[in-house]
Amino acid sequence: MATSPQDIQVQLEQLRQDYQTSLQQQWPDLMAELRQLMQPSLEDWQATALSLKQHFHTLAGSAGTFGMHQLGQQAKALELELTSWLEAKQRPETEQCQHLLEMMEEISLQTSTSTPEATTSFQQQFKDEQEQKALIYMLEDDEQTGEQLRLTLATFGHEVRWYKACSELQQAFEQKMPDIFVLDLACPIKHQHGCGLIKEYELDSASARTALFVIGEKDGFDDYLAAVRMGAKGYFVKPINAGALEARVQRMLLQRLQAPFRVLIVDDDVMLAQHYKLVIEQAGLVAEVLTEPGQVFKGLKSFQPDVILLDVNMPDCSGPELAQLIRFQDEWLGVPIIYLSSETDSQRQLDALVKAGDDFLSKPITDQALAVTVFARAQRARQLAEMMTRDSLTGLLQHANIKDRLSDEIAKASRSREPLVVVMLDIDHFKRVNDEHGHLMGDQVITSLANLLKQQLRKSDLVGRYGGEEFLLGLPDCPPEKAHKIVDAIRQKFKQLPFTGDKSSFNCTFSAGIALVNSKLSTDENIDRADQAMYQAKEQGRNRVVLADN
Ligand code: GH3
Ligand code: MG
Ligand code: MG
Repeated sequence: MATSPQDIQVQLEQLRQDYQTSLQQQWPDLMAELRQLMQPSLEDWQATALSLKQHFHTLAGSAGTFGMHQLGQQAKALELELTSWLEAKQRPETEQCQHLLEMMEEISLQTSTSTPEATTSFQQQFKDEQEQKALIYMLEDDEQTGEQLRLTLATFGHEVRWYKACSELQQAFEQKMPDIFVLDLACPIKHQHGCGLIKEYELDSASARTALFVIGEKDGFDDYLAAVRMGAKGYFVKPINAGALEARVQRMLLQRLQAPFRVLIVDDDVMLAQHYKLVIEQAGLVAEVLTEPGQVFKGLKSFQPDVILLDVNMPDCSGPELAQLIRFQDEWLGVPIIYLSSETDSQRQLDALVKAGDDFLSKPITDQALAVTVFARAQRARQLAEMMTRDSLTGLLQHANIKDRLSDEIAKASRSREPLVVVMLDIDHFKRVNDEHGHLMGDQVITSLANLLKQQLRKSDLVGRYGGEEFLLGLPDCPPEKAHKIVDAIRQKFKQLPFTGDKSSFNCTFSAGIALVNSKLSTDENIDRADQAMYQAKEQGRNRVVLADN
């Protein structure tokens, strides 16, 4: 992101000053409007009262946001007073108006002294693809567990430093903090030392850059709870499933690599919307402001938000109306809508939610609370959206999705004339794995291969789970010979991965077929050519990669 945290702070402060200036300019008009309300000659008193009420409603929501909490509360009181007159349809007595006027005069427009608070950045960004490889420190004195973890993690390209003594580990921490710290709780002395390090380096804080993974002996609720209380991001039980631990490492690194969450703010109050935008950007997310509800579809299409932050009271179209309008279109069903309004009446809040929308935040809201709520919603929405198209075991694209994406890629390749290859990959003798080590172990093998593929291929490559233990890849802009080298390197890594079953340890292999895409053929026909090459690999003895003839 181009804007630095300091810049954002400066902009927030500027915005606050602008807000105060605009208030000072508005105030005489508001007082005049109120005096008008006191005139017995005024015919349509309700129109004036309504206009005043709306002004105070907006003020109640915005003043607190800009650090003028007392003013916000007084504006709320004025709003409620006007509401009660309007609801009773009873013209206020002159004394009542006089009282209101006094209240307004009392509200000194003292400038707020609080400076905008900096919010924590939740979404740390790592631009470098290299970050998909982690630096991992491991405190482990059990040889077998240590060796298995080291081997698996190293096969995935992570840098593993295995410590058996705490003093060395402490030194390592001093030199460079790792991405992940794996601590085995089984050894009591090291456990204590390890816990000391966790405290010393604040690994248990939510914003820690180093994630803590804990290994334990037992699988009980209390053990998990203890791990959570230590601040662990993962708990693994011996005998260790190294593949699952590696998968967690990858998921964590991918989270850091993923694009920042996007928040569309719809609010007719320009300054307030701008303030929210800055607060959200300070938390590391991306935000865009829309001040005209009529532009919402255009905004959704071009900005593709993960979350919509919606004002409730807008002149042309209310928030709940707009939310219902958005919900008419299936395309945006997965995008959560959060109302942000100075509405404090809980019944009206509920009414808004019943129509459409997912959450209600009341103005004024602290910057931190706004950022946290938006972040949590966006994260959940992104996870769910991913889940819809992805296979639950491996996180890869599902059968139908990988085929769709491959069709798009074939069309693209035929335009660009760049070589695209399709790869079909099938684990060898997989039935035996299931028969000898059980279905769960079979699942672990599938997951490990999926992770290896995700990690070894480029971001632009397509990786899908085509069937049970079959994978389909699409590698754009990749000549077949190069694809052969890449897939063969993955084959060699995969066959080295150690798996520990109940009865024995074992390794697995796969066979793969590669075909250069012919854009005159259909997607299915292209896949079929890769499939046939894969069967040749099986026939030739498995554990090999075969290129289809052109
Ligand atoms: P080949 O080398 O010829 O590919 O032999 P194979 O044993 O791998 O043969 P085949 O493809 O016929 O067997 C695949 C087996 O994979 C059959 C099925 O029970 C199992 N399988 C399919 N999906 C899953 C899954 O999600 N998890 C597990 N554990 N097993 C699965
Ligand atoms: Mg097979
Ligand atoms: Mg198969």
